[in-house]
Amino acid sequence: MHDYEMFIDGQWVAAASGDAFETVNPFDGKPWARIPRGGAADAEAAVEAAHRAFTQGPWRRMTATARGQVLHRLADAIEAHADRLIRVEVTDNGKLISEISAQVRYLPQYFRYFGGLADKIEGSVLPIDKAETFNFTRHEPLGVCIAITAWNSPLLLAVNKLAPGLAAGNTFVVKPSEYTSASVLELATLFEEAGLPQGVVNVVTGYADVGAALVAHPKVAKVAFTGSEVGGQRVAEAAARDFKRATLELGGKSANIVFADANLDNALKGAVSGIFAATGQTCVAGSRLLVQRSIYDAFVSRLVDFAATARMGDPMRKETQVGPVTTPPQYDKILDYIAIAKAEGAECRLGGQPASRPECGAGQFVEPTIFSGVNNAMRIAREEVFGPVLSCIPFEDEDEAVAIANDSPYGLAAGVWTSDVRRMLTMSERLSVGMVWVNMYRAVSFMSPFGGYKRSGLGRENGIEAIHEYLQTKSVWISTATEVADPFVIR
Ligand code: NAD
Repeated sequence: MHDYEMFIDGQWVAAASGDAFETVNPFDGKPWARIPRGGAADAEAAVEAAHRAFTQGPWRRMTATARGQVLHRLADAIEAHADRLIRVEVTDNGKLISEISAQVRYLPQYFRYFGGLADKIEGSVLPIDKAETFNFTRHEPLGVCIAITAWNSPLLLAVNKLAPGLAAGNTFVVKPSEYTSASVLELATLFEEAGLPQGVVNVVTGYADVGAALVAHPKVAKVAFTGSEVGGQRVAEAAARDFKRATLELGGKSANIVFADANLDNALKGAVSGIFAATGQTCVAGSRLLVQRSIYDAFVSRLVDFAATARMGDPMRKETQVGPVTTPPQYDKILDYIAIAKAEGAECRLGGQPASRPECGAGQFVEPTIFSGVNNAMRIAREEVFGPVLSCIPFEDEDEAVAIANDSPYGLAAGVWTSDVRRMLTMSERLSVGMVWVNMYRAVSFMSPFGGYKRSGLGRENGIEAIHEYLQTKSVWISTATEVADPFVIR
């Protein structure tokens, strides 16, 4: 049993209350580490530390170039310690080692990209319409930012916020999910080695209550949240009370749309990777498979046969394709939705039950599940399951595919499988989502904006615009006149 501590003001500390909770390995169902249960006093200490680091520490006085170099060193440190970070994250959240390994080995690129961007954020000199006046803009950091994250990709979700936010010159308190705090605490062990000044990034662990205390703190300027719709709503409401900024990455019910003219072998792999990779525990899961009616029956049958071959089991093994469900409430939720879909009259073509294969050990596994005969009004088509459960829906033509895809409270992502170039372009324009993948699915990059339309969120992570989510603009006016004009007339 490993005992973790929190990281506040450059020090490793227990919760002020002394409380801790156990974190469980989802594969064997056993607690493997103890995590401090932070409370209001810890939130206070962490925000104060981040505020001191912002207002008094060297971080603000450093040139943007030097800040960028610190982020490059952090990238190097992550690379050097990647194996440890990967092992801890797979142990704590049960995602496949193949997926987490790729994610963690990609994290340094986020710090290098945003580290490189740090000194390329330029203000402008305006050809201002006032005589003898010099006017220019500066882009300045916001101050203390709170990063609150979900359990499905703990390091990636934290880095999505830290990389642009630190490059912009802000300081942070990170509150990882109570189910998967360990890997972010491991990341914090690298901050000193990278040269991040004391208090610039703090990590406070615990439940929603400590998250709420962080958001409510008057010295906080911004909250960057990834999680459920309900959590996002609470965070946004609390932030709005004090006019704090909030960016939100929330849920999805993304449509993966297969046209008859597509390369169907590729579309089949795309459908599977959209929903069964990551055990469906990804916000961009292609959980609604829209298939053109002329190929619907044949395609769904092939899909069922293909998904039936998925290898379940230990996420630490490279060969495993579907791992355990990360949290007990999530496991119950997935099984509830399977029951709801059956009661709604959807036809269960594969799975539809907990997995009791010997290779699944004591973990909470759900068989890859495929429903056909789903219509878009059913709850299984409207609500996010966040598990390996696919709803297949037929459509006639482009117009109907667009109508079904867009008839969702969410608007995170969509996939389109077609060989028609005109259709690639028109579909990508007509879909009301933040990300469209054509003849591919689930690709992400530090360079390309990530985020949702509608109830899937506010703001964007990744790409140049992400750094502007952590900046505010100041307009500076300098008179070059030798004499102040009439004080009663506005210039
Ligand atoms: P959650 O909302 O229960 O928790 C997310 C985080 O918020 C946790 O750290 C939690 O402790 C904290 N929290 C919850 N309520 C809070 C409150 N009132 N104030 C402050 N903090 C609070 O979500 P979850 O179950 O951990 O994550 C699953 C959800 O995350 C899914 O809906 C999924 O779609 C979404 N998600 C979205 C993205 C994206 O980028 N769009 C990525 C991953 C996951």
